[in-house]
Amino acid sequence: MIAAPHAAIGAAIGVAVGDPVGGFVLGFVSHFLGDRTPHTESTTFYGKSPRLWKQRFRWFLVDAVATVALMGCLLWRHAHFHSAFWGMLGGLGPDLITNIPWLGDRLSPHWGFRQFRTFHHWTHCNLPKVQWKLGVMTQVIALAISVAYLLYTR
Ligand SMILES: [Zn+2]
Repeated sequence: MIAAPHAAIGAAIGVAVGDPVGGFVLGFVSHFLGDRTPHTESTTFYGKSPRLWKQRFRWFLVDAVATVALMGCLLWRHAHFHSAFWGMLGGLGPDLITNIPWLGDRLSPHWGFRQFRTFHHWTHCNLPKVQWKLGVMTQVIALAISVAYLLYTR
């Protein structure tokens, strides 16, 4: 999944749990369930070719800016801010750990990290390009439910 639904799902779980530590842990676990949900990613359109890194980077930038803006609006003065914030960080955690190049490069020689990254990649269920609309829809639904819950519990 892209970052916005991961963040919103994690934040919603944090609010539901009502505890920052529990929210972080369950938000972290929710990341793998989100990635397991059939979805569309930048690699759906651009593959993993190093030649197309600019296209993937543009996608990443739009997702990152939209996620920060959306979560900033949703969590600003939220009644359960701490639980939501830590749940959000948990929801984003696996991607932050494995996809930030300087961090991934630094951790990659370590035994546990390689297994973690392999597991994380294994959980992904990226749909083929021909089904990209379905892959967007699954994320829109997950995002909408999470945003509705965060607004409802505000
Ligand atoms: Zn992921």
